[in-house]
Amino acid sequence: MPCEPFFKKGKVVGWMCNRGRKEPPPPCYKCGKPSTKLCDHRDMEPIYGTMNGRRIIKKWVARICTCDRPMCDTCANHTEPDTDYCDFHNSEIARMRSAKAEALYQEQLRRLDKDN
Ligand SMILES: [Zn+2]
Ligand SMILES: [Zn+2]
Repeated sequence: MPCEPFFKKGKVVGWMCNRGRKEPPPPCYKCGKPSTKLCDHRDMEPIYGTMNGRRIIKKWVARICTCDRPMCDTCANHTEPDTDYCDFHNSEIARMRSAKAEALYQEQLRRLDKDN
């Protein structure tokens, strides 16, 4: 994804595109060329609770921010339709985790919408 979202209270309120910026884009994490993409991997983290005195995972929540490692066209691992992963997140496991986190994230956004 070539643009960076702006967040307010966990919601995307705008986008900042590399094209519109005066400073050069951050260098690619791998080869140092100007980056054109950011890694779209989203992670999630467990919320813990206790049940019968034992620590258990109550639920998973999606991180607000994606990996965002800057990459150039050559170094990015592109997947359709509009997703790019860095090498660290270009595995089957990371992709599945990212897809799950993305679904969670959308759900969190919908919940925020309802609260407002
Ligand atoms: Zn590169
Ligand atoms: Zn990444």
